[in-house]
Amino acid sequence: PAREDITYFGAGPALLPTDVLKKAAEALVDFQGTGLGLAEHSHRSEIANTIINEAKADLASFLDIPDDYEILFMQGGGTGEFSATAYNLVGSWVANKREEIFAQPRHEDDGLPSQMQLLNDAVNNDLKLDYIITGSWSAKAAAESARLFGQDKVNVAVDARLTNNGKFGIIPDESTWKLSKDAALVYFCANETVDGVEFQEFPKVLTPGPDGKGPIVVADMSSNILSRKIDVKNYSLIFFGAQKNLGSAGITVVIIKKNLIAPITSQPSAPSMRHLGLPIPPIILQYDTIAQNNSLYNTLSIFDVYIAGQVLKKALATYPDKVSGQETLSKQKAELIYNALDSHPDVYRIVPHKSVRSRMNICFRVTKGGDIDAAEKDFLKQSTALGLTGLKGHRSVGGIRASNYNSIALEGAQKLAQFLVDFAKAS
Ligand code: PLP
Repeated sequence: PAREDITYFGAGPALLPTDVLKKAAEALVDFQGTGLGLAEHSHRSEIANTIINEAKADLASFLDIPDDYEILFMQGGGTGEFSATAYNLVGSWVANKREEIFAQPRHEDDGLPSQMQLLNDAVNNDLKLDYIITGSWSAKAAAESARLFGQDKVNVAVDARLTNNGKFGIIPDESTWKLSKDAALVYFCANETVDGVEFQEFPKVLTPGPDGKGPIVVADMSSNILSRKIDVKNYSLIFFGAQKNLGSAGITVVIIKKNLIAPITSQPSAPSMRHLGLPIPPIILQYDTIAQNNSLYNTLSIFDVYIAGQVLKKALATYPDKVSGQETLSKQKAELIYNALDSHPDVYRIVPHKSVRSRMNICFRVTKGGDIDAAEKDFLKQSTALGLTGLKGHRSVGGIRASNYNSIALEGAQKLAQFLVDFAKAS
């Protein structure tokens, strides 16, 4: 089939705007008359720095990112950030504790434990990484943290499965979250791609106080970044792989509050994390190294940054009110699809609870006729024939998933909604 005949609802990598791809294809062969393709230019060149700086500025403008945040382009995907967030924010936690403890005046002969002993005790007794588990990606992030730091350091503040018959599909009430005091991070996944569960707003219990102080909040926004307005100030760190709403697979973006970029291994006076029994990150996952080098510590795929940059330029040109404009459209598209599903409860069953439905990954079962397997096979066959592709749910949960990312035009969502109605009516 031709590209124009297909609306691809796959969960990622996702569709990219065709005009962006065409421009990128030209750049791949000859970048702006340099005779070299963009993937052939040095990552140390001015070209590379310009592309990075423009993409950073455009992202900051589109999302309204304050100046006290740094934007990093990294490699290793969302999965790499499961590890990086834990390594680095434990690094900052230790650096802060150390400062606190060593700020106290001490005499050698006061008979109290040494400052290093106090730091050791703090690490042993107080260091916690909090995870809000609402789907399979946050569960994976928590598991990685336990693998790196030990299960005893990971506090599962809430696990949605425990109050929902062992399945994801709800976000338990915030009053039941068991948050640690002074956690190195509180982690949540803003949109669970596999389970179709999205936080509709920033959790109230994590909101900073009037003095701006609050928990160290980390959010995985891999599958809903650039689709709704966010108050960046509520977060210490936001990360996302490019391959859903931003660009092509190969780069991961980190938006981090500058004062959290802890020098973990590069500062000679920093206590050795290893001495405290804590792991240190591989150098390419260490935020201060990446920040100090404007994301060019080692060879980065500038071509992928370029594609992301072009997507951002297009978005800025399309929506005068920036991400709010995209948010309006995302909501409209999601409503079209959910309304079609809701209007045929005898044929479709939406997987997550109504209050947490994702606008980006719409997960449902086709229950028509009672034989779900047969009905879903038929559904996929008929939708594919109409050019509506990529609708098969994640292999771990089955069912149908329509990923309604930014590159799905309103017409694409309308076409799917119409098909949902037609399929339900035909028996
Ligand atoms: N987080 C979320 C919400 C995702 O949807 C995904 C992948 O689909 C990941 C993390 C993992 O990303 P990656 O494949 O880039 O490691």
